[in-house]
Amino acid sequence: MFKTIRVQLTLWYVALLALILVAFSAALYFTLARSLNQQVDSNLRVNAEQLVGAANIEQGQISFQNGESDTSDAANVRARGYLVRLVDANGLVLDTNARFADLSVDARALEAARRGQSSLDTVTFNGQSLRMYTAPIAENAQFYGALQVAQPLDEVENTLRALLLLLAAIVPLTVAFALVLGYWFARRALAPIDQMTRAAQRISAEDLSRRLNLNLPDDEVGRLARTFDGMLARLDAAFRREREFTANASHEVRTPLTLMRGEIDVTLQRKRSIAEYERVLRDLGNEVDRLTELANDLLLLARADAKRLPVQCEKLNAARLVQGVTDEMQTIANAKAIALVTKVDESLVVWADEDKLLHVLLNLLDNAIKFTPKGGQVTLSVFQDGSNAVFTVSDTGVGITAEHLPHIFERFYRVDESRSSRTGGAGLGLAIAQSLVAAQGGTINVESAVGQGTRFSVRLPLSKTE
Ligand code: ADP
Repeated sequence: MFKTIRVQLTLWYVALLALILVAFSAALYFTLARSLNQQVDSNLRVNAEQLVGAANIEQGQISFQNGESDTSDAANVRARGYLVRLVDANGLVLDTNARFADLSVDARALEAARRGQSSLDTVTFNGQSLRMYTAPIAENAQFYGALQVAQPLDEVENTLRALLLLLAAIVPLTVAFALVLGYWFARRALAPIDQMTRAAQRISAEDLSRRLNLNLPDDEVGRLARTFDGMLARLDAAFRREREFTANASHEVRTPLTLMRGEIDVTLQRKRSIAEYERVLRDLGNEVDRLTELANDLLLLARADAKRLPVQCEKLNAARLVQGVTDEMQTIANAKAIALVTKVDESLVVWADEDKLLHVLLNLLDNAIKFTPKGGQVTLSVFQDGSNAVFTVSDTGVGITAEHLPHIFERFYRVDESRSSRTGGAGLGLAIAQSLVAAQGGTINVESAVGQGTRFSVRLPLSKTE
C-alpha cells in the first residue's frame, strides 16, 4: 500500500499541510493570548493610576472619602467588574467589593508597595484567576498603604478556550479533507500510468505493432505515453529490418548454392572431357568467390553495426587519392567509352582511413560506370566546403527515380529487382559505403535526375575531429 506513489504523495502532502496548520494555529493562539493579557494589564494600570489620585489620606488613614465627591470613582470602576480595594500599611483591607471580602492580601505585593513599587500578579480566588495591580499610596515619603485593582481573567480564558476548540476542530477536519481530496487527485493524475503499465504488459516482442494509443492530454504522463509509442515504432521498424535482413541474406546465400548444386548434378550425369570439368570448376570457383565476397560484406556490416570496425584515419592528399582511384577504373571506363574526368583541389588534405575511402570511391565509380550508357561521362571531383572535404561522383547515366532514391542506401536494396545476383551486386554496395563513411565521421548523399544522371557526395572532415 505504501509502495504506491499516490499514497506516498498524499501522505507527504498531508503531513506537510498538518505541520503548517499546527504551527499556524499555535502562532495564532499565543499571539492572541499575549495581546489579550497585555490589554488586561494596561487596563488595570490605567484604572489604578486614576484611582490612586482619588484616594484620600486623612490623619494617617486612607479612604476614597474626599469631602462631597465621596466614593464615586471607585464605584464606577467596581461597576465595570473590577475589584477595587484599599489596604493599609499592615495589610489590613479597608475598603473592598463585598464579593472579594475574603481575598487575602499578598505579602510580597505589599512589600513591593512599601518600597514604592507597583506590581502585577495573578492570584486565585474561589477557583478563579484574577490579575491584580498593586499601587503604593504614600505622601511625603510616608507609606500609608496600597490600592489594589484586579480583573477576573475568565473572559480572556473563555475567549482563548473557544479559539482552541475551534482550531482543534478545524485542523483535523482540514487535514482529513486534504487527505481524501489529495488521494483522489493523486489517483486521478496517476491512473494513466497504471493504464500504461497494463498496456505495456500486453505488448510482447512478437507483437511490436501494438501501440498504447492512450489519447492522454499533453502533460508529463501524456508525453511519456507518446514517447513510449514512438519508441515502440522504432523498435518495431528495427525488428522488421532485422527480419528482412536475415531473409535477404539467406536468399543471397541460397541462390548461388542452388546454382552450384544444379551445375554439379548436371555435370555428374555422364563422363565429361577434361576441358568441360575445368570449365565447371571455374564456374564453381566464381560462385565461391561471390559467396566469399558476400560473407565479407555481411561481416563488415555486422562490425560496423557493432561499432567494431577498425578505423585508422590519417592525413591524406586528396589529389593523390583521386589519381589512384581513376587509374584503377580507367580500363573499365575505356571499355565502355566513358570519359573519366577529375576535378581536384591539389592542396587539399583530408582526414580519413585510406583503404575505406578508396573502397567507397571505387564502389561509387563502379556504379556510375555501370549505370551510364556508352559514350557518357563520369566525373570525380573533390573540393573544400568549410571544414569539410567533399568528394562527388557524378555521371550522365540513367538516374534513379524519386520512388527509389530514399531507399538506395538500404541493405539488399536494388532498383531493378529482376537483375539476378549473378550479374549485379547483392544491393549491399551503397549500404557498405554509407557505413564506411559514417565510421570515418562523414556523411554520404545522393541526388539524381532520371535520364540525366546521378551525383553522390561524400563529406569528410578536413582535419581530426574529436
Ligand atoms: P550493388 O552492390 O548491387 O551495386 P548498390 O547498393 O551499390 O548495390 O546500389 C543499389 C542500387 O542503386 C543499384 O541496384 C542501382 O540500381 C542503384 N544505383 C547505384 N548507383 C547508381 C548510379 N550511379 N546510377 C543509377 N543507379 C544507381
